[in-house]
Amino acid sequence: MREALWWKRIENGKVHCYLCPRDCKIGEGQAGFCFIRKNEGGKLVTLGYGRPAAVQVDPVEKKPLNHFYPGTRIFSMGTAGCNMGCFFCQNWDISKAKSDQVRSVDLTPDDVCQNAIDYECPSLAFTYNEPSIWGEYVIDIAKRAHEVGLKTVMVTNGYINEEAFYDVYKHIDAANVDLKAFTENFYGKITLTHLKPVLDTLERLKRDTNVWFEITNLMIPTLNDDPGEVKQLVNWVLDRVGDSVPLHFTAFHPDFKLRNIHNTPPETLEMARDIALEEGLKFVYVGNVFSDSGNTYCPSCKRVLVERNWHQIRKYKISSDGKCTCGTQIPGHFNYREIVAAPVSDGHVFHPKVYWN
Ligand code: SF4
Repeated sequence: MREALWWKRIENGKVHCYLCPRDCKIGEGQAGFCFIRKNEGGKLVTLGYGRPAAVQVDPVEKKPLNHFYPGTRIFSMGTAGCNMGCFFCQNWDISKAKSDQVRSVDLTPDDVCQNAIDYECPSLAFTYNEPSIWGEYVIDIAKRAHEVGLKTVMVTNGYINEEAFYDVYKHIDAANVDLKAFTENFYGKITLTHLKPVLDTLERLKRDTNVWFEITNLMIPTLNDDPGEVKQLVNWVLDRVGDSVPLHFTAFHPDFKLRNIHNTPPETLEMARDIALEEGLKFVYVGNVFSDSGNTYCPSCKRVLVERNWHQIRKYKISSDGKCTCGTQIPGHFNYREIVAAPVSDGHVFHPKVYWN
């Protein structure tokens, strides 16, 4: 248990956590909405520090990130708790649990980095639940990761206030941000949050950081799959963060409190992708289904640059300086020399694995 950042004392022994837009006012002995930030004796403490509840090696495509060292492994971790209340959460066993209700492991920031190196992962992902709610741990891990040549990734719902945003993201190399819908009605009723702070986070990422980021929209039949809403979302992305930000339309499966809605038909994802490409986005993917629309295509000559089979790579045709053979620059990070044979602090050289079929 560590004293948290981003809080202040208020009246009657309460503390105000201003990490995220919930701005919880927390009484003595109580926790905030996310369960893992608690008022202990008039101080806010973070219960998730050093105690991940899920740890796994994933392909980077699973985050999903399709333009960040494709084909590499990423050491992924999450804790208990979450600051959103999504009815469709696919990790609800940890995100809706308190820290003493999950089986956790003890991992210091040094341990996390050493594990990533041992498992030949060039990057770390803070993922599975919302990582900003354990931002203190994220920052300490990310600082150590950069010292030993590892990259850092946030897989996030984007629900974070300004001060914490800048404190966390100055240590982050890439992010995938969930844009769960494009209506306040959906955010309010289905996630128990609001849309505007998520849009603010996306604009801050674009305007104020060098973080590489991609956007994911999980499409849920009848709730956020209206073609008009897709068009609005896409046009916001085009206007505010540009045509080169990859957008992933991914399939929902029934889970948690939304078990009465069927899986997203692949045709819905393809419909959304067609709209996004017609409107002018350059890199649009579908996910959680088998489809050629998970490939990366050159926006100029239409060649297949990265052919994917679910999360595996079958063909890879991007040069190390990020170009198609026609000369078109593909945005993202493709120079594997930046990660392969990265030096670690004791002078050894770290050779992470890249898995291409
Ligand atoms: S991070 Fe947790 S405790 Fe802090 S404001 Fe958000 S939900 Fe509340």
